[in-house]
Amino acid sequence: MFSKILIANRGEIACRVIYTARRLGIRTVAVYSDADRDALHVTLADEAVNIGPAVASESYLSKQKIIAAAQRTGAEAIHPGYGFLSENADFAEAVEAAGLVFVGPSPASIRAMGLKDAAKALMERAGVPIVPGYHGDAQEPGFLAEQADGIGFPVLIKARAGGGGKGMRRVDRREDFAASLEAAKREAKSAFGDDAVLIEKYLIKPRHIEIQVFGDSYGNAVHLFERDCSLQRRHQKVIEEAPAPGMTEEMRSAMGEAAVRAAGAIDYRGAGTVEFIADVSDGLSPDRFFFMEMNTRLQVEHPVTEAIAGVDLVEWQLRVASGEPLPKSQDELAINGWAFEARVYAEDPSRGFLPATGTLAHLRFPEGDVRIDAGVREGDTITPHYDPLIAKLTVHASDRQSALAKLTRGLEQTQVAGTTTNLDFLIRLSRQPDFAAGHPDTGLIDRDVEALTSARQPDDGALAVAAVAEAGGFAGATGGDPWLSLGPWQLWGEANRPVTLHYDRGQTHCRVTAKGRALFSVALEDRSIPLRLLAGDREARRIEIDGRQSNVTVFEASNGTTLFMDGQTHHFHRHDPLDGGEEAAAGGDRLIAPMPGLVKIVRVREGDVVAKGQALIVMEAMKMELTLTAMRDGIVESLNVGEGDQTSESAVLLSLRPEDAT
Ligand code: ADP
Repeated sequence: MFSKILIANRGEIACRVIYTARRLGIRTVAVYSDADRDALHVTLADEAVNIGPAVASESYLSKQKIIAAAQRTGAEAIHPGYGFLSENADFAEAVEAAGLVFVGPSPASIRAMGLKDAAKALMERAGVPIVPGYHGDAQEPGFLAEQADGIGFPVLIKARAGGGGKGMRRVDRREDFAASLEAAKREAKSAFGDDAVLIEKYLIKPRHIEIQVFGDSYGNAVHLFERDCSLQRRHQKVIEEAPAPGMTEEMRSAMGEAAVRAAGAIDYRGAGTVEFIADVSDGLSPDRFFFMEMNTRLQVEHPVTEAIAGVDLVEWQLRVASGEPLPKSQDELAINGWAFEARVYAEDPSRGFLPATGTLAHLRFPEGDVRIDAGVREGDTITPHYDPLIAKLTVHASDRQSALAKLTRGLEQTQVAGTTTNLDFLIRLSRQPDFAAGHPDTGLIDRDVEALTSARQPDDGALAVAAVAEAGGFAGATGGDPWLSLGPWQLWGEANRPVTLHYDRGQTHCRVTAKGRALFSVALEDRSIPLRLLAGDREARRIEIDGRQSNVTVFEASNGTTLFMDGQTHHFHRHDPLDGGEEAAAGGDRLIAPMPGLVKIVRVREGDVVAKGQALIVMEAMKMELTLTAMRDGIVESLNVGEGDQTSESAVLLSLRPEDAT
């Protein structure tokens, strides 16, 4: 076994690898960019080496800086995590050439699976079922359109170098094909530097079921069962589970065998995942699953497999990489219980899942029987430089229903203030009836997106608590006397104070009356709500609201108050009249960058007449392409950015003037 390894990654996966390495007595070296000097993964590692500026291409993607860091610290092996250089065959080769061990498959295996078209051809030869479609070299738009016709719409255009759902477009009608092809190619070019695509039959009701495989250097390969990753939005996984609901033993062994055959075809070593798409228009069936691609690395969602199989996949990776045989054979592996993983992101589901940034001013994870994989701590900042993943919650129980109940509860107990998160979306999703009944499919989230993501108005209870907080009722509440903390106005007997609460999509005027020690009455329009502060402090206080007790956490910061109650998060912000947000919502004159990013395409020039909703500027931020549209009809008065410009958050990109005000 190695005595020291370097982890060429950041965030939760770097931390996760460090924990296992420590348990095995292996010393760890972290690498970090300038933006990550104080990041959790850096402080957890025994040593850490700075590898350059925040921008990933000059740090976490710099092969040569990472190899130099390993050499400088005497690390014997490099674990690439996922993302970044994990599936980069040139990197694996350079690591080996430097006399170090790459914790992963051989460069040749990575290459064989690196491009979706070649991988499909290889799998076809190995007798693994593949999705019908075109995966040849010809790329002329006219020819591809003919292929699409032959396959029959709807089709899916995929970047052959693709990953993470990038460069992928579903096309329903022939007339949309050319535009979608162009968009897919553009996205592929910018994300992967390769714009070649393949065309596949688009399956209408598919499930994404993948098989975890593992191989060693002695020609052994096993599978560690399946994961169902059908809950996706924009082709990215949201909640994963293992095993797959409704899976029969017959189908499991058919898929497992196909996956092991796939691994065998490329002499696979280490952890890998063979992704299949299953057509479930008539339920799961052993003759209707197709190979999509193989990921030659550890997956984000590997913890669900670890939970049901009772193994530590990173330990297996390190053992196999150091030359040991597979720790277990196929018949020593069995499924125990059910597991779910949910990915908590800094993003705003009610605004099209726009990635968010911010400082995690308050961060609490559920206690007890929930596995938390986090790369951040309270006080850390989610920056636009990297993936906005905050944490993964993994739960395990004897059966699906109990595991799902645990997941919901764990999500409800997770508290994040300082950035917008997808927690509420995940909670609603965990209760979505089709999913709860064990019928996930890749279209589920899109079909139900309104109910899953619509912004919720705070209820009366939340408004009442927020009003008391805003009136200063919680000030000094730690052991203090809230009555006294109400300040001078409590001297006037039944003192009361008007409060205006501002939340995401509105505001409420109310009046808080101090009725006595720890007792308030909050008047909201036509109703009045009695509220009594019971035991506890701000962090976890029991409050009786209109005769019903709840646990409430109140987090107050300079920009507002965040409440956590009844499994929900409510943010009330201090009103800033200069805030451009309301202007945009009201159809204002200025197009504002929602986050820092790169201006990729500018579709208008000064003086152009534009219509409300028309695409004006395409930005790339946080690994996502955002199309910014006109807030209203008008004429472009000034254009402040050009293609290739880097902009900061809230920068005014262009302004409009009304058409008649020439
Ligand atoms: P990426 O490598 O970008 O993640 P994949 O090929 O793994 O792309 O596909 C990602 C997701 O897209 C799948 O999990 C599935 O939901 C959807 N998908 C892929 N191929 C098809 C298809 N032929 N029909 C319908 N959906 C598909």
